[in-house]
Amino acid sequence: MSPMKAPRLCGHQGCPNLIQVGQGYCPVHKAMHKGDYKRRNPIANRIYGSVRWKKFRKMYLARNPLCVNYDECGHSATAINHIKDHGGNEDLLWDESNMEPMCKHCHDVHTGETRGWGKKSEDSRPDGRYY
Ligand SMILES: [Zn+2]
Ligand SMILES: [Zn+2]
Repeated sequence: MSPMKAPRLCGHQGCPNLIQVGQGYCPVHKAMHKGDYKRRNPIANRIYGSVRWKKFRKMYLARNPLCVNYDECGHSATAINHIKDHGGNEDLLWDESNMEPMCKHCHDVHTGETRGWGKKSEDSRPDGRYY
């Protein structure tokens, strides 16, 4: 019974520091990445988890079924991208003129994150029954 867990590299691109199991980043980059993807901010998290948002998203995607990059990627939209980062501002977050439909692929590329969205089946469902 020897410890099989090899040390991992810091999640920051190009950082050579090793990190503890269970950590995402070395101490230097931990602070730097504290705010990103997962808990970008509590307000947005709360909204994205709300029924209101889920309903809204469904309706929005029903009206805008194709990824904004459809010509290139050929995917249908499964996410709403905020053109201007809302940064937790609820007005911006709910502002439809600040939204565009995106497929998961393009959205991941766009946000520069590919670590998944916590594997919510709803996000990966190809074409739900949109009204
Ligand atoms: Zn690092
Ligand atoms: Zn796309």
